Amino acid sequence: MQPGFFRDTWVEVNLDAIEHNVRLMKQHIGEEVHLIAVVKANAYGHGAKQVAETALISGATMLAVAFLDEAISLRRQGIQAPILVMGAIRASDVDMVEKHNLTVTVFSLGWLKEAEKSIRNFIDLHIKVDTGMGRLGVQNENELIDIFDFAQESNRFHVKGIYTHFATADEDDPTYFLTQYDRFKKMVSTIPNQRLIVHCANSATGLKFPSKVYNAVRFGISMYGLSPSPEMKSELPFPLQEAFSLQTKIVHVKKVTKGTKISYGATYEAKEDEWIGTLPIGYADGWIRKLKDAEVIIQNKRVPLVGRICMDQCMVKLPYEIPVGTNVTLIGKQNHEEITIDEIAKRLDTINYEVPCTITSRVPRMYIKDECIIEVSNPLL
Ligand SMILES: *Cc1c(COP(=O)(O)O)cnc(C)c1O
Repeated sequence: MQPGFFRDTWVEVNLDAIEHNVRLMKQHIGEEVHLIAVVKANAYGHGAKQVAETALISGATMLAVAFLDEAISLRRQGIQAPILVMGAIRASDVDMVEKHNLTVTVFSLGWLKEAEKSIRNFIDLHIKVDTGMGRLGVQNENELIDIFDFAQESNRFHVKGIYTHFATADEDDPTYFLTQYDRFKKMVSTIPNQRLIVHCANSATGLKFPSKVYNAVRFGISMYGLSPSPEMKSELPFPLQEAFSLQTKIVHVKKVTKGTKISYGATYEAKEDEWIGTLPIGYADGWIRKLKDAEVIIQNKRVPLVGRICMDQCMVKLPYEIPVGTNVTLIGKQNHEEITIDEIAKRLDTINYEVPCTITSRVPRMYIKDECIIEVSNPLL
């Protein structure tokens, strides 16, 4: 039995792949450009602390998360690197920002005025500019200058950076990307550049336009070895390594006779005498019911799921009798056979980003470095 968990389903996170992707991205964008490792949403489901530590020893100089809680969690786990919170924070929570030495995203003068009252010494901030994403950010030069001047005049704020986010950097047509880029350029030029961290690039921008990244890249999806979009997959400037795989084991095997029904709704019926295996993973693990026609890899071969996926289990049709305890790969490689996150995303009519994020915390994460298990994280135990 594996240490740290007692069920036969786990995610394997290959930290060597994270290291590889960070190192090659650093070479691609230039060693003088900051790499900000984006570890929001528990590092896209991979594990925020472990990915953050690996990214930092591989060349990242800063981390980024979406919410204050995620940043505090990293600090509590001993991460001391600068952390940018990219999402909105309540001005009334700014004491936590100061206590944990975090960097906040600011896009409203009202926020600065309210936050100022609760700050004892100072906090670091990056100003966010909305150049066409329509999510967070100041809308125009006047707002930007007001925020910048207020922050400069108050001794409670240290302006450390300015940034924006692209809506279409991963698409083939660069027109809208270039419109956003030009707006950002104009906005940046209205404030004096006192060695600010200026950043606009997500993975797609960093990979496609390394000369348009100013001095930092926010590296998310491709740090995990995934292409920002299917369009970009064939033209990546260097090979990425997927870090995430999903594994289970057969926990029950039986021979059923022709006509036997399998799972809820009795929707599957054995067409002949068949070998059926049971896998201990289901929709409560994020292996959702829409995946009922997916395949898994057993003994280096693809086999189909049969019947509906249950909350905790699902069934496979085996080509012949295979022993209980045999490894099953739901996402990942066995020798030459591979089921990629992109394949699962396609089946789910979604993007690859969503797949590792939705494998729930009930599934323990096992961390591999130099082909050894170095840690298991299981919030249940
Ligand atoms: C999530 C996020 C990123 C990372 O984008 P990827 O496409 O995963 O590289 C960068 N910037 C912001 C503002 C984000 O929210």
